[in-house]
Amino acid sequence: MQKIRFDLIKKKLGSQAISRFAPSPTGQMHLGHIASALYVWGISQKLNGKVIIRIEDHDRQRSKEIFIKQIIEDLKWLGFLNLVPHTREQKHSYYKQSDCTRRYEKNLSYLTRQKETFLCSCSRKNLLKQRIKNQGEIYYPGTCRFQRKIKDHKEASVRLVVEDDTFEFYDFLKGHSSQTPSKQCGDFLLKDRNQNWTYQFSSTVDDIYDKINLIIRGEDIFHCTGRQIYLMKKLKFSTEELAFVHHPLIYDPETKAKLSKSDLAQPISSFRNKGYTPEDLLGLAAFLVGLKEDKTPLPINALEKLF
Ligand SMILES: [Zn+2]
Repeated sequence: MQKIRFDLIKKKLGSQAISRFAPSPTGQMHLGHIASALYVWGISQKLNGKVIIRIEDHDRQRSKEIFIKQIIEDLKWLGFLNLVPHTREQKHSYYKQSDCTRRYEKNLSYLTRQKETFLCSCSRKNLLKQRIKNQGEIYYPGTCRFQRKIKDHKEASVRLVVEDDTFEFYDFLKGHSSQTPSKQCGDFLLKDRNQNWTYQFSSTVDDIYDKINLIIRGEDIFHCTGRQIYLMKKLKFSTEELAFVHHPLIYDPETKAKLSKSDLAQPISSFRNKGYTPEDLLGLAAFLVGLKEDKTPLPINALEKLF
């Protein structure tokens, strides 16, 4: 694995590092989430930065309050919550996207006024049926963009007009990269047919509002970076001082299978019930993601030593 050049990150950021940990409350946390948290907090600590906890509950049908409670309880038990300073404005040390509707409305209105959006009546099912796929992703061929026939109605989704543009960026683990959203996904969704804000839109708007300059997340969403840079530019946000780190995911060392298909995918609470300590789980996650050579326990205050 490439060694992270902290001197270069500092140079890139120019100000205090602000990162975020953003779980979706559509299920319980597992070792994969801990691995991600190790990267987020470990790298941030090394840079004397701060971490914002954002609960990404934009999918109202799948998000559950009970999972939010469990995530917060797990983060507290593991020790991560104690690393987040409470601020005067925030009652909790985390916030939920469902409490931020106004910021998404405001930014969508702005894009619509700029004629950067259009309403779309195509269903995901139909797009899949047409088999317009691009490296496993659904590609939107611009069907409704050119028709512009759909008037505002409750079942339409909202898409962003994606022009042909290539974005170059540097990832501190993966090196130089370039992505062309118009070829990867085409006009992507900002709001879906269920009237949920999409991950791309809500997460990008939140990163701007939270002044996030250090984006650390799993490499499974590496392909989203170009389109989020595109969206930020459309929202008139400078992306010059953004640093990206896309970290590896956990695989089962025995079967080499994805974590979701392995016994290790059990929720944190079930490890806890079996007598694991927080240090045991931090050590196990660090080992599985390749940050440590053995499974020995890892204290929460030693995260920066992993890097
Ligand atoms: Zn359409």
